[in-house]
Amino acid sequence: MERKVHLTPSGRALVTLIPGDGIGPEVVSAARRVVEAAGAKIEWEERAAGASVFTQGIASGVPADTIESVRKTRVVLKGPLATPVGFGEKSANVTLRKLFETYGNIRPVREFPGVRTPYSGRGVDLVVVRENVEDLYAGIEHMETPGVAQCLKLISRKGSEKIIRLAFEVALAEGRRRVHCATKANIMKLTEGLMKRTFEAVAREYPQVEAQHIIVDNCAHQLVKKPEQFDVIVTTNMNGDILSDLTSALIGGLGFAPSANIGAEVAIFEAVHGSAPKYAGRNVINPTAMMLSAVLMLRHVGEMDAAMAIEQGVLGALEDGVLTRDVVGDAGAASTTAFTDAVIQRLGRKPKQAAVRQYRPLNLPRVSSDPDFVKPKKRRVVGVDVFVETSLPVEQLGRSVEELVAASPVELKMVESRGTKIYPATGAMTDTVDHYRCRLVQRSAEGDLSEGQVLEVVRSIGAKHRWMHVEKLNEFDGIPGFTKAQGED
Ligand code: NAP
Repeated sequence: MERKVHLTPSGRALVTLIPGDGIGPEVVSAARRVVEAAGAKIEWEERAAGASVFTQGIASGVPADTIESVRKTRVVLKGPLATPVGFGEKSANVTLRKLFETYGNIRPVREFPGVRTPYSGRGVDLVVVRENVEDLYAGIEHMETPGVAQCLKLISRKGSEKIIRLAFEVALAEGRRRVHCATKANIMKLTEGLMKRTFEAVAREYPQVEAQHIIVDNCAHQLVKKPEQFDVIVTTNMNGDILSDLTSALIGGLGFAPSANIGAEVAIFEAVHGSAPKYAGRNVINPTAMMLSAVLMLRHVGEMDAAMAIEQGVLGALEDGVLTRDVVGDAGAASTTAFTDAVIQRLGRKPKQAAVRQYRPLNLPRVSSDPDFVKPKKRRVVGVDVFVETSLPVEQLGRSVEELVAASPVELKMVESRGTKIYPATGAMTDTVDHYRCRLVQRSAEGDLSEGQVLEVVRSIGAKHRWMHVEKLNEFDGIPGFTKAQGED
C-alpha cells in the first residue's frame, strides 16, 4: 500500500517534529542535525505534546494544533513524552498511538560495534513487531466487585491479520528469512489462539519466509539463551512490550533502541526510551535510539540514501570508540553533542567492519476497511454466563440459581471462581472471593436463545443476586465461541 507522505511544493516530505520532555529536546535536536546533514529532503513542522501541554490543562497531553499537523503530514518524529503526576488520566503517547491507529510497533535491535554486552560477537540482529492498539492495552478495566478487578483482553482477527502481514512485509523489506509468532495460545486459546491461527493462515501467502510459532515464555527463554536464532518476532501487545524491552537489553540498552509506530494513515517514529528526567539538559545521554528512529522515518518517506548514510555514520562513530556515558561510564564519555558531531563526520562512510543491511521500502499491508471482517454462515446463542457478586457459600448460590431458572429454557451447568469450576463440587481446593460466574446453557441441544430469553435469565438471577457482568455464549458455524472452565466437562 502507498505510504502517506505530505510533500511540500519544493518536493520535501513534511514531518511533524515533537521535541517532547526531559531528554527529548536533546535527542530530537541530535536526530534533526544528522537528518539535515545527510541532505534528506525533509521539512519540519514543530509541535508540542506531553508535560508542557498537560500543565496547560489539556487533559490528553496532545493539543489540537498538533493533531491537525499530524493529520496533514502523516509522519511524526517525536521525543519521549512524560505524564506529570496529577495531570491527565492517559499518557500522551498512548493518545497519539490510538488517535491515529498506529497498529504496528516495529522495534529493531542489532549488535553495535564497541558496545560490549554479554552477547557481543554473536550477531544479534532481529526485529520485534508488536501489535500496538489491542489486547490488554485497550485499557478496558472494571472493578467487578469492591475487591476484584478485570481487564478485557481484546484481540481481533483484523488486528491480528494487519500486524502479521506487517511482520512478513518487514521480513521481505529487510531480506530476513524467518518470522516467529510468539503467543500464549496454549492457555488463552481464543485470544492468543486467534493470533496464532491468523499467523498460520497468512504465512501461506509468504512461502519464501520461514514461519514458526513459539510459546511466548519459551521465546523469552530462547532470546536470553540464543538470541541470534531470531530474525522477526511478531506478537500481541503486552507480550511485545515485555519482549522488546528484553531485546533492547541484549544490545546495550534503551539508548540504542529505535521504534516505528505504523498505521495505515500515520507513522510515528520515536526512541523506545522515556524522558529520563534526571539527565535532562546535561548533554550526557545517548542519542543513538532517536537517530535510528529518524533512520526508520527516512526509509518510510523514501529517503533511502540519507537513511543509509546516517546508519553508516552511527556505526562508524561507535566503531571508532565514540561512546556515550551509558556505555562507558563518566570517564572518557562523549557528550550527546560530541557523539552527534562524530556521526555527522562519518555520514555515508562505509564502516570498517560492521555490516549494514540493504533495505527495500516497506510494503504496508492492505487490509479491508470492512468493520464486519469475519462473517459466519451460522450463529446461535447457546447459553449465557452471568457473573455475580455474593458472599454466600457456593453451594447455596448454586442451588438458588438452579431454582431461579427452573422454568426457563436454560439450566445451570456450573459455577466457577476465577476460572475453576467449584459447583457442583469437584473436590477443588480453591480459595474463594466474592466473584462467581454462573454458566447457564440451553436445555435443548438445537435452540437459539432470543434477546428476550437472555434478558429474562439475567432478570431472574438479578432478583436475588447482584450481577455485574453478562456474556452470551455464542456458537459460530457450529464452533463454541467460549472456553470451558478448569474442571468443566
Ligand atoms: P526512561 O526515561 O526510559 O529511563 C530509564 C533509564 O534508562 C534511565 O534512567 C537511563 O538509565 C536509561 N536511559 C533511557 N534513555 C537513555 C538514553 N537515551 N541514553 C542513556 N540512557 C538512557 O524510563 P522511566 O524513567 O521509566 O520514564 C521516565 C518518563 O518517561 C516517565 O514519565 C514515562 O512515562 C516516560 N516514558 C515515555 C515514553 C515515550 O514517550 N515513548 C516511553 C517510556 C517512558 P540509568 O539510570 O541506568 O542511567
